[in-house]
Amino acid sequence: MDTLPNSPEARDIEYHMHPYTNARRHQEVGPMVLDRGEGVHVFDSAGNRYIEAMAGLWSVAVGFSEERLVEAAVQQMRKLPYSHSFAHRSHGPAIDLAEKLIQMAPVPMSKVFFTNSGSEANDTVMKLLWYRSNAMGQPQRKKIISRLRGYHGITIASGSLTGLPYNHKSFDLPLPGVLHVGCPHFWREGQEGESEEAFATRLAAELEETIQREGPDTIAAFIGEPVMGAGGVVVPPKGYWEKIQAVLKRHDIPLIADEVICGFGRTGRMFGSELYGIEPDIMVMSKQMTSSYLPMAAVMMNARIFEPIADETHRIGTFGHGFTASGHPVAAAVSMENIRIIEERGLVEQAARVGAHMQARLRALSDMTPVGEVRGVGMIAAVELVGDPVTKAPHGKPGTLGAALQAAMQDEGILVRALGDTVAVCPPLITTETQADEIVDAFHRAIPRVA
Ligand code: PLP
Repeated sequence: MDTLPNSPEARDIEYHMHPYTNARRHQEVGPMVLDRGEGVHVFDSAGNRYIEAMAGLWSVAVGFSEERLVEAAVQQMRKLPYSHSFAHRSHGPAIDLAEKLIQMAPVPMSKVFFTNSGSEANDTVMKLLWYRSNAMGQPQRKKIISRLRGYHGITIASGSLTGLPYNHKSFDLPLPGVLHVGCPHFWREGQEGESEEAFATRLAAELEETIQREGPDTIAAFIGEPVMGAGGVVVPPKGYWEKIQAVLKRHDIPLIADEVICGFGRTGRMFGSELYGIEPDIMVMSKQMTSSYLPMAAVMMNARIFEPIADETHRIGTFGHGFTASGHPVAAAVSMENIRIIEERGLVEQAARVGAHMQARLRALSDMTPVGEVRGVGMIAAVELVGDPVTKAPHGKPGTLGAALQAAMQDEGILVRALGDTVAVCPPLITTETQADEIVDAFHRAIPRVA
């Protein structure tokens, strides 16, 4: 990249190590420096305008210029910019938010524990479950079952739960005790002549076998996203969650719903769990919880999880886990205001309505070469590209087509995200039908350019 000395681009290359980036390639191509946002749009440093059709990282529900969130942050900063929640201390914003989340939960819940990121939340979940097993006198009950292509974060524990090669390779992950069962992607994993329902039955049988093989009393929990996000936007096949839950219930194994992407309206329901009749014991939330204006995440648990843990904290004298910024007052105030906006403006209903329109229009891309599959629900979708429509093999090096489509969409003024050869679309919940049309129309022009 030709960069002027001392330009933001040159200084970024010089000083900034990026997450999820090929560090050597970054020195050649440099950064796309974004400058400001307005509604569903962001502007780069040259003034070019884009629809942020990934809502950042699946997260900016209310758009990029919501003054009410700014105001909520400023007011809380003036009043009490920081306090912690250790050892019996608390503050209004954390109390209000915990109460609100429990009221919003689709199933009865007992307590909320705050963290700063989805990864920390899933790390916390693993520690809660281990602590619980010890508390119940079942120290052998420590294994967690996750899924291939599931995404749960990148810390040592949550990165182990994640079922993607990039998150394990050269990091010496996953940790022992994390097991990965099959990904519920019918189009890719379904067998010849198999119905969706039969595919779901096969996955439930695989889960049953895994539990039997490992020993039911060694399994602490099963974790899954209602709709997989970063693993390629995988909408579960018909009957999947019903069958999976039946297996877990039979063995009395707790279920964790990772709602970090699905939560707060993304699927057209407040939580993805509602869409699929999931009855989780633990729910993990982040991203749209604050529209990512500030970092915050939460673990919500029912009494079955909380009570044995509470007993153990009493025996030990404390719960030896927590973050300096757990329940940060400014983040909590922003989250409350964000949830108020989502409710007052009917953004969940809007996501259902605009999402249905966007999904229907996106499906028409299925007939174009080199599209393999178009999938999604509500305001989360993906277009997967293939080199060979019969074998579904990639064109050349995996990820080539995806990267090309992402670049072609950027030329069209739309920011999407290539996950290998799958291009994800996940616009803010405030996206209108006309803006959804702009996104789909851009795909119509961009896809032939990568064919
Ligand atoms: N869980 C899910 C479902 C996610 O999509 C993500 C992030 O994309 C995480 C957890 C991790 O969250 P964070 O990046 O805030 O650590």
